[in-house]
Amino acid sequence: MVTFIDNIAKISLPTPFAVGDVNVYLIKGDVLTLIDAGIKTKDAWESFTYQLSQLGYTPDDIKQVILTHHHPDHVGLLEWMPDDLKIFGHRYCAPYLCRDQDFFKVHDQFYFNLFHEFGLQGDYTSMLRKWKSPLKLSANRSLTNVIAEGDRIEGFEDWIVLETLGHAQSHLSFYREKDGALLAGDHVLATISSNPLLEPPLSSQAERPKPQLQYNASLKKLFDYDISIAFTGHGNEVKNVHSLVERRLQRQQDRAMQVREMIKAEPLTTFDICQKLFPAVYQKELGLTLSETTAQLDYLLSIDAAEKKFNEDGIAYFTAK
Ligand SMILES: [Zn+2]
Repeated sequence: MVTFIDNIAKISLPTPFAVGDVNVYLIKGDVLTLIDAGIKTKDAWESFTYQLSQLGYTPDDIKQVILTHHHPDHVGLLEWMPDDLKIFGHRYCAPYLCRDQDFFKVHDQFYFNLFHEFGLQGDYTSMLRKWKSPLKLSANRSLTNVIAEGDRIEGFEDWIVLETLGHAQSHLSFYREKDGALLAGDHVLATISSNPLLEPPLSSQAERPKPQLQYNASLKKLFDYDISIAFTGHGNEVKNVHSLVERRLQRQQDRAMQVREMIKAEPLTTFDICQKLFPAVYQKELGLTLSETTAQLDYLLSIDAAEKKFNEDGIAYFTAK
């Protein structure tokens, strides 16, 4: 049975993804606020309205939704929520929510260029279609309010906005100073590491974001906050956030060194490395595994432990330094 503890009610909703359920949070304050909005499936909606009713509410009672990030499992049910809802999120959420056609042209080209650079062979259009297929379960809405680092939101004043980019280019977390609670979205998860997903920059002129480097910086940022509990986007709450962060950073470093060993022997493309790292799943989960591979390569380049060179066809090869 769902219930409020310290004005926070955790509502777990089903998703069709490997990650399993997604957690959204109803926050009692001057204004009834929902953190994230599940995925756009009938199952998720039924589960959501049922659990809301257990708490004594209907979707019409929710006045504002605050997004931790733009991924479909965190925004989809916005589609079926009341029209007059305020929707807060990082500015990067905007083009995804309103399906901005200009943005998606640049978005698609961004991935085509990357597929080429990575040394992928085959039908890029169908690869991209697969990469984008979760967007079907996203919402078609508009962000009403852009929020950023340090902001406070009316009716939700106890919480301060922290920018925690990495897993997504839109990722925000929310920190309540009086008791150290953190609404962490997918920034920290109890049992799995967050994938630093490859996503295009907001402006087509900008360089490709380096999500693993952003993610590490966002993880280290948590050391500046006394966190009693983190409410996460998937799975259980995390009590000992700082030691979890240390473990995550260490594990990432270990995996990067494993990649460094691979490129000591011979120059390899991103796709070569991806296949070696994830022989069983790279075909099924190309987006996640290429993101994870790029994460390690970006990291190795950042610590000057690898070198990247392009061949005459524009395919990138990596060697150890
Ligand atoms: Zn996500």
